[in-house]
Amino acid sequence: MLPTLADIFAAARRIRGVADATPLVPSVFMSGRIGADFLLKLENMQPIGAFKLRGALNAVAALEGASGVTCCSTGNHGRGVAFAARARGLRAVICMSNLVPQAKVDGIRALGAEVRIVGQSQDDAQAEAERLVAEEGLVEISPFDDPRVISGQGTIGLEILAKRPDIETLLVPLSGGGLAAGVALAAKSINPGVRVIGISMDRGAAMYESLRAGRPVEVEEVPSLADSLGGGIGLSNRLSFPMCRDLLDEIVLVSEDQIYHAMQVLYYEDRIVAEGACVVGLAAMLSGKVTPTGPTATIVTGRNLDMEIFTRIVTGQSVQLGDLVIEGRPYRRAA
Ligand SMILES: *Cc1c(COP(=O)(O)O)cnc(C)c1O
Repeated sequence: MLPTLADIFAAARRIRGVADATPLVPSVFMSGRIGADFLLKLENMQPIGAFKLRGALNAVAALEGASGVTCCSTGNHGRGVAFAARARGLRAVICMSNLVPQAKVDGIRALGAEVRIVGQSQDDAQAEAERLVAEEGLVEISPFDDPRVISGQGTIGLEILAKRPDIETLLVPLSGGGLAAGVALAAKSINPGVRVIGISMDRGAAMYESLRAGRPVEVEEVPSLADSLGGGIGLSNRLSFPMCRDLLDEIVLVSEDQIYHAMQVLYYEDRIVAEGACVVGLAAMLSGKVTPTGPTATIVTGRNLDMEIFTRIVTGQSVQLGDLVIEGRPYRRAA
């Protein structure tokens, strides 16, 4: 069953006081650029440093009689599940691939969860989570294809529209699509006229390729500055694929160079430390791939990045991720 607006309101009650009410602040620089308010929903200020706590808390709250939980993750979902499991005294085993930055692994271990690093892709990590379900009886919580997770992420949409009912465009970072599905459901249920645009990096954009093909397809997972947006949507996707298909107005892709520049913009203009995945909305707007129409909001989804790489970016140095090299450029405010 697809989640409904009522499920999102129920999620909002469950996460209240722990994972809600992050600030919605204007970016003066971006507002000047688009000639209308450009707002940042600061999910980087969540206790685990990312929005995924919303969905994880909502999903773990529903469990009864489970001895423990497991999931595959690009890092932030695992941290949310670890946080939520610890609060309920449950065992948590988080499965991730070798592409996950060390900062994310450390954050998960610090919450007392067990970490399994397996293979080179989300699919490898997913296989390990499935093995743990079969052999150790753990309950798996999908990072995006779970009605409770989608409803939890959707509470962000409720909060944005409650504060700014005049929002015309929402720019949502897009990977497995749990965030975009939930936010689009909330926003369009309240105001069907809101334009919701999903944004992914142009290397390995699984939802984009799947929507083009008309069914979930596999993509090659490659290193990206937006590491939190990596991985597939699952070949047997039940929820986030149809919801993104039916609710998103458009999907826009941005390049690694554009992500690099947008990270500098968010840091120098708004003084915010955020992951590459968070700035894809800014990157899409700055590169002219999205046409501004009026008040716009984007979600600064998380801050769990390796500070060494971040330091290189804001000081204009080149960055190497696997076989990917992003040429350094000192920040210059474009005219
Ligand atoms: C998971 C994640 C996303 C994308 O969310 P999906 O529900 O997988 O589309 C974006 N940004 C960050 C920081 C994330 O951790």
